Amino acid sequence: MANKWVYMFSEGDMTMRNLLGGKGANLAEMTTIGLPVPQGFTITTEACTQYYEDGRKINDEIMAQAMKGVKKMEEINGKKFGDLKNPLLVSVRSGARASMPGMMDTILNLGLNDEVVAAMIAGNPDPAFERFVYDSYRRFIQMFSDVVMEVGKKYFEQLIDKMKEEKGVKFDVELTAADLKTLAEQFKAEYKNQLGTDFPSDPVEQLKLAIEAVFRSWDNPRANVYRRDNDIPYSWGTAVNVMPMVFGNLNNESGTGVAFTRDPATGEKKLMGEFLINAQGEDVVAGVRTPMPIAQMEQEFPEAYAEFIQVCETLENHYHDMQDMEFTVENKKLYMLQCRNGKRTAQAALQIACDLVDEGHKTEEEAVAMIDPRNLDTLLHPQFDAAALKAATPMGKGLGASPGAACGKVVFTADDAEAWAARGEKVVLVRLETSPEDITGMKSAQGILTVRGGMTSHAAVVARGMGTCCVSGCGDIIMDEENKQFTLAGKTFKEGDFISIDGTTGNIYDGVIKTVDASIAGTFGRVMAWADKYRTLKVRTNADTPADAKKARELGAEGIGLCRTEHMFFDPERIAAFREMICSDTVEEREEALDKILPYQQNDFKALYEALEGNPVTIRFLDPPLHEFVPTEDADIEKLAKAKNKTVDEIKALCNSLHEFNPMMGHRGCRLAVTYPEIAKMQTKAVIRAAIEVQKAHPDWNVEPEIMIPLVCEVKELKYVKKTVVETADAEIAAAGVDLKYEVGTMIEIPRAALTADDIAKEADFFCFGTNDLTQMTFGFSRDDAGKFLNAYYDAKIFENDPFAKLDQTGVGKLMDMAVKLGKPVNPKLHIGICGEHGGDPSSVEFCHKIGLDYVSCSPFRVPIARLAAAQAAIANK
Ligand code: ADP
Ligand code: MG
Ligand code: MG
Repeated sequence: MANKWVYMFSEGDMTMRNLLGGKGANLAEMTTIGLPVPQGFTITTEACTQYYEDGRKINDEIMAQAMKGVKKMEEINGKKFGDLKNPLLVSVRSGARASMPGMMDTILNLGLNDEVVAAMIAGNPDPAFERFVYDSYRRFIQMFSDVVMEVGKKYFEQLIDKMKEEKGVKFDVELTAADLKTLAEQFKAEYKNQLGTDFPSDPVEQLKLAIEAVFRSWDNPRANVYRRDNDIPYSWGTAVNVMPMVFGNLNNESGTGVAFTRDPATGEKKLMGEFLINAQGEDVVAGVRTPMPIAQMEQEFPEAYAEFIQVCETLENHYHDMQDMEFTVENKKLYMLQCRNGKRTAQAALQIACDLVDEGHKTEEEAVAMIDPRNLDTLLHPQFDAAALKAATPMGKGLGASPGAACGKVVFTADDAEAWAARGEKVVLVRLETSPEDITGMKSAQGILTVRGGMTSHAAVVARGMGTCCVSGCGDIIMDEENKQFTLAGKTFKEGDFISIDGTTGNIYDGVIKTVDASIAGTFGRVMAWADKYRTLKVRTNADTPADAKKARELGAEGIGLCRTEHMFFDPERIAAFREMICSDTVEEREEALDKILPYQQNDFKALYEALEGNPVTIRFLDPPLHEFVPTEDADIEKLAKAKNKTVDEIKALCNSLHEFNPMMGHRGCRLAVTYPEIAKMQTKAVIRAAIEVQKAHPDWNVEPEIMIPLVCEVKELKYVKKTVVETADAEIAAAGVDLKYEVGTMIEIPRAALTADDIAKEADFFCFGTNDLTQMTFGFSRDDAGKFLNAYYDAKIFENDPFAKLDQTGVGKLMDMAVKLGKPVNPKLHIGICGEHGGDPSSVEFCHKIGLDYVSCSPFRVPIARLAAAQAAIANK
């Protein structure tokens, strides 16, 4: 049989969401359970895919089936498309699997033309009916022009405003039949003016163009951006729903409304919604008139209201979830036009999940599965006051790199941020880009705004780690660092001027927007406890400081999966010694400098073990290239020259000699430990001595440090560094006369390490996938520069996502899977985790579960997200 492209509502049900889209599947389901739905049909998502395969054309087979659908619809409804006696008018509505704002708007009243309009009016002498017909006609021309032919809405809105002004009225309901008739004429003229052709009068042609427009809208820029932000694959396509119109604008016995069965903001169990008399479609939400609260509908339309309450109950009992509904009343009779599981805030999601369990609608596992982990983010950071935000207009937009809201005075350097914050000012640090030296300043700021850099830029990664709001990569900013000012949207901002930034949306606002503190409600803990019950994957955190570690523990982290030691070297007291080490000529000199750092490192690690209370702590040895640490300020260079008994020029030459063309593929990671084993020795001493101390102080804890060697590509390399580590560690342990266990493992972040994981597993106690570097080296593009060309890749549909934000399961994932499969049989005790940015991304977490990792490690504020995602993965893959 040929493909079936078209389903009548009576042929589908809610399980067919992939094929019929969410809207279509639910219209079919409502039909099946006997709710009053105008009967039409759905053209499948597969037809949309076919449309693109056919070079953006609706083929004859699809069109023929659609016309058969029209015929059946005519029979069911006793009206005929384009008929002069009893014309059928329809709506054409898009509907993807997942609800997707940004796609095509709906077209209502399709099927009207001059003859149909005249015939309808001739058939009903009521002047109010004439008004209704012209109201429908002008709406149709406007929507069709805007949505199908992409003539801007504004031209038509201007004409309406002009008409209202001429007639001295405020609302569209006050316009008369004659006014609306004139408007319809003006609209058609505007159409011709804009497009050079007459408004299409043949209903079948109108329908075909409208269907095409829905398919086309799947690929519009807004939809593409929305899909990327929400993990919706391009390949899904959208369905088209065609159904008979019911008229809320028929008279004052009619109206249209939207409602939720529970409060989408708080989750409270009460009917919420709005209703507007004598109105159609989006009038309710578009604000043409102020709608009435849904409860008031009871007085105006008691029968329809009673039936609607019944429908709400039926739907909740049927879907076992909060419903978002759209409906219309025509001549006092209720019609259901849409239902879906309602979108809700994170807070409401938790409340509703708990209530649904208590009401017996859902099991704990189902409740866990219904919460979008990404939403939890918003519960953990300060937020803008909703009303204040609504009233504000953004003046620019960057990437929403680290969620939360920040409002403060603009400062341009990390030092200023620190100094201003120290005297109690709230600041937003604005930089071209940030570097490791900026860390303390970044910590002092309410938020960070950068001109350059993507989602994995330094600013973004560090800000997420700190839970600080960050908007990165706002290229529209014209930066003048020297004069401490920048220009955006034509306005110049000087040091001390207020701005507000939204790390979730990436929006940037002029001036102050009020913020409110985040609170963790009781339902949050309850849902998290369920998540912990069902997940098998452990969740650790990436943390370098006791404060971060403590925060992460509060949020449920079960250990540290990655402690980066290099951040510890930037402290003013240590950086001098570290630079002396870099500029040493002999091993002895280097050791002398390192000896100065050792007690600091030891104390750092001690504090971390204390914060973790016996839970595992993985410490990664020095990773970045040394060039990142060299001084740039003259005063620092002179200081270093003095300390090393060298001239300023000698120091400068030395620093320059460390410069590399590809530093990310340069002298870094374990390569540093191969050339300078004394660095690894010092770090090992610090790790072991701290562990011995803490174990002594807390005999009931199990302190067992995990030493992680970065950037290994060859087993002999690991073996070589490990020898230094083991000799040093064993000597320390023996000298202390204690019994301390420790592990030595490695990062898997170079493709060759994954490919030879069976060899490497012989020498490693654990693997940890560093998916930032692994992604960078597998794709062969730099994570710091990829932002420049990724947009072109999205536009060309080569990539759908940023592989640094969402794990590339096909390529990078294959390497990970391979490493697990090669490693575990060789060393059954091998434990394996991931510590890249992907460790906190829900779909990546699911992948980690599937390939059998033991844990994921992510920044503290992502820990709850990872816990929930891990539980969902376990439940889905049972
Ligand atoms: P969206 O997906 O943007 O909500 P819809 O397809 O749901 O768009 O259409 C928007 C509104 O148009 C609906 O809420 C409803 O009020 C109105 N509408 C759609 N189809 C019909 C119809 N057949 N009869 C009356 N109104 C309709
Ligand atoms: Mg809708
Ligand atoms: Mg790395």
